[in-house]
Amino acid sequence: MATEIEPTTEPRPQIELTGTDAIAKDIHVEQERLGKKRIPRPEGVNENSKILWSYVIPVAFFHLLIPLAFTSYFFSWWGVLFLPIGNYIFTSMGIGAGYHRLLTHRGYDCPKWFEYTLATLGVCSFQDSPARWVLVHRVHHQHSDHQPDPHTPHVSGYWSHMGWMFVDNTDLSKASAFDKYVRDLMRDKYYMWLQRGLNWVWVYVAHALVFLAAGFGLAFLLAPEGGVVRFAYQFFFWTVIMRTLYTWHVTWAINSAAHMWGYRNYETREDSRNNWLFALLTNGEGWHNNHHADPRSAQHGHRWWEFDMTYLTLSLLEKTGLVKNLVRPNNSALDRKTL
Ligand SMILES: [Zn+2]
Ligand SMILES: [Zn+2]
Repeated sequence: MATEIEPTTEPRPQIELTGTDAIAKDIHVEQERLGKKRIPRPEGVNENSKILWSYVIPVAFFHLLIPLAFTSYFFSWWGVLFLPIGNYIFTSMGIGAGYHRLLTHRGYDCPKWFEYTLATLGVCSFQDSPARWVLVHRVHHQHSDHQPDPHTPHVSGYWSHMGWMFVDNTDLSKASAFDKYVRDLMRDKYYMWLQRGLNWVWVYVAHALVFLAAGFGLAFLLAPEGGVVRFAYQFFFWTVIMRTLYTWHVTWAINSAAHMWGYRNYETREDSRNNWLFALLTNGEGWHNNHHADPRSAQHGHRWWEFDMTYLTLSLLEKTGLVKNLVRPNNSALDRKTL
């Protein structure tokens, strides 16, 4: 069973306001809705907080490799074409269907082996262990765009996109936080093992080595004479390094862009938006206002044009019997929030 998360922070006091007070309140609400209200970093972060070098160094290192993509040695069109395929396999299935819609929100049921497969694809996206990712995201849903949301753009755009990962936020690292938010995952031997030490990182490294070996295997079959090493390096560079970078940024953009830019179908208590660009780039996660309005639903696209490839895949898998009890939008509850 997933940990039940209380839907909101404390209720706002209902005080009768008249005249200028009422206008001031309207301006405040409007500013808040438009995402202009600045809030400080979460209370679990302060000027003495540790910098998490274990996150800073790999993220910086991967970004420093980007210029190689523009060199004739590493550039390849088939490499570029692999990005949306890799994004579908690792981000949409691993992060979207696995970490997010299944492990965080329990939007459907499936056999354990399939759950572990999706979670492992998520690990191979190098976006933290399942338990920690789910913890951060459950805190986000509980406090979205209010203290102590771990990554709201009300702190800053950069903070919400990636800055929040680089400092130790005690709200997210205390044992009590794991106990409160992800007790369900910490009771599972596989997720517990991944959490221990750097095991989830070693899984990522192992998958990268498999891709490197596959690159050499394919190179012996396909590469022109004398081009085996270059082909293998190119294969590794695009299928692991560039794919990881691509999937990092499109996923991070849900925390940043999809809380700043886009349209809203529903009146929700945070500034989530439906951002069509990142919805397309993530195969559905960008319909983020819909998601905040109905977090359990595994279907994030609610209107006919809100294309949600991740949901369509789950829906197809439901027809095969692999996926069961796929949670769809709760229309009667959503009607009350419709703008
Ligand atoms: Zn959100
Ligand atoms: Zn969510």
